[in-house]
Amino acid sequence: MPVLKLHAIEEEYKDLIVCMRTHKKCNRDPYFRKIKKEWTYYNSAYKDIDERKVVEVVNKSVSTSLTYSIKISEYDSIINKINFLKEHEKKVAYKQRRAFLKEYSSMKDYLFYNMVLLIIVSFIFISLIIYSIIKKDNQLKILTKKYKMDSITDSMTKLYNRMYFDKIFDNMPFISNANNWKTAFVMFDIDFFKQYNDTYGHDMGDVTLKAVASNLKTYFNKEYEYVFRLGGEEFGVILFDIDEDILKECLKDVNKNIESLNIEHKNSKISQVVTISIGAVIYEPNSYISCNKLYKIADECLYKSKENGRNQFTIHNEGE
Ligand code: GH3
Ligand code: MG
Ligand code: MG
Repeated sequence: MPVLKLHAIEEEYKDLIVCMRTHKKCNRDPYFRKIKKEWTYYNSAYKDIDERKVVEVVNKSVSTSLTYSIKISEYDSIINKINFLKEHEKKVAYKQRRAFLKEYSSMKDYLFYNMVLLIIVSFIFISLIIYSIIKKDNQLKILTKKYKMDSITDSMTKLYNRMYFDKIFDNMPFISNANNWKTAFVMFDIDFFKQYNDTYGHDMGDVTLKAVASNLKTYFNKEYEYVFRLGGEEFGVILFDIDEDILKECLKDVNKNIESLNIEHKNSKISQVVTISIGAVIYEPNSYISCNKLYKIADECLYKSKENGRNQFTIHNEGE
C-alpha cells in the first residue's frame, strides 16, 4: 500500500526531527537508511505518467534530504510534501476504486443481461424440443390407437371383427364369473340374403349389410355391450350384466328396428322388407359351460328362429 509506505517515511522524518532536537549529535544514518529503503520501495512501484511527474518532484527533495547538511526546518517542508503525496495517493486510490466499481457494475449488468438472454434462449430451445417430442408422442399414440382399432375392426361394417370376437368371447365366462354377471351371447342373421343379392346385386347387398350393422351398433352402444361381424351376413353381440326380460325387450326392439329400416326385399318369403333372425344364449355366472357349447346353443336358437318363420328371436337360458 503506497499510503502506508508514505506514512512510514513521514514517521521516520518525524522521529529524525525529534532525535535532532534532543541530541546535538544525532546519528541520522539509521533514519536515512529506513527512509531510503521505504522511499525506494514506494518510488519503484508502478505509477502512470501524471503520478510519475508528481513523485519525481518529491523524489529530488527526498534524495537531497538524506545528508547531514539539511536543517530541521527543511525536514518539515519534506514532511509537507510527503503529506501532499499521501493525499494525492488517497485521491488516486479513491478515483481508481470508483472507476473499478463503475466497471464492475457495468460488467455485472452485462453478465446479468447475458445470463437472462441465455436463459430465455435456452428456455425457448428446450420448449421447442419438448413441444416436438410431445407432438411426435401424440402422433405415435394416435397411430398406435388407429392401428389397434384397425386390427380389431371389420373394414366394411366398422363393427368389431371376428378376431376380436374370439378374444372377447373366450374371456366371456371368466368376466361373468368374476363379476357375478349374467351374460348374453346373441347371433343375428339376415333373412334370405342370398335372394337379396340375387335381386338387387352384390353392391346393394353391401349397402344393406352396412345399414343393418349400423343399426345394431347404434342400439347396443352402452358400456359392456359389444357388437361384432361374425362373417358374411351374420352378426354377434355380447351383453355383459344382462337380465333375461331386458334381453327379450332388446331383441324384440332389434327385430322391429330392422323392419323399420324399410329396406325393400321383394323376394323374401316372409316380408316385403329386409328382416333378421336371432338366436341367443344366456350364460349364468359359474355355470362353467364352454364357449364352444355356448356358440352351438346360440346357433341352434338362430336355426329355431329360422325354422319358426324368421324375423324373430329365440333365447336359451343355460341356467334353467
Ligand atoms: P337365411 O334366411 O336362411 O339366412 O338365407 P340366406 O340366403 O341369408 O343364407 P345363405 O347362407 O344361403 O346366404 C348368405 C348370403 O350372404 C350368401 C352370400 O352371397 C351373402 N354374403 C355374405 N357376405 C356378403 C358380403 O360381404 N356382401 C354381400 N353383398 N353379400 C354377402
Ligand atoms: Mg347366414
Ligand atoms: Mg341369412
